[in-house]
Amino acid sequence: MSLSPETFISLWKELHGFKVSESGEKEVLMEDCIFCKIVAGQIPCFKIYEDQKVLAFLDINPVSEGHTLVIPKAHAENLWEIREEDLAGVHVASKKIIRALKDTLNPSGVACLQLNGRGVNQVVMHYHLHLIPRGEKSPPLPMSSWDLKPGDQEAIARLAEKIAAGLG
Ligand code: 5GP
Ligand code: ZN
Repeated sequence: MSLSPETFISLWKELHGFKVSESGEKEVLMEDCIFCKIVAGQIPCFKIYEDQKVLAFLDINPVSEGHTLVIPKAHAENLWEIREEDLAGVHVASKKIIRALKDTLNPSGVACLQLNGRGVNQVVMHYHLHLIPRGEKSPPLPMSSWDLKPGDQEAIARLAEKIAAGLG
């Protein structure tokens, strides 16, 4: 793609109805699914991989160099909705892509992040797996480092039973 970064960003903002609220938080106002439009070729992307079921492209607001989004071509909002074959496709493709990220960027690690629902800040409601490489000298990735504090073991055991019961 031969668009300059400035043109790409202004096109992206226009297409997304992107605005920044007074509090400085980003709001994405979209009627239709942005990622379905990318799959259909109606919106450009920096594509790095494609197969029958999957498309992968670089994130336009990268958390780190090489930040990649891997999506199913068929629309599904989240992990509750996605078809098993599409889920498998995304993750099998991610295995190939993560190898290419390793070969290209030599990261010290790659975080895989996938959000389900507005409550955990999912912004684009089309299933996507983030592949976020981190270089030796890059700043820490906050979502991959937290303090380990032992939980209430009895409560954990009770909850495990309850969730497992729902799994049949
Ligand atoms: P979420 O919070 O939903 O997991 O993340 C959505 C991601 O999609 C964000 O990291 C955002 O930068 C990215 N994104 C949103 N719109 C576009 C787009 O049009 N193109 C690309 N490449 N990434 C996008
Ligand atoms: Zn979609």
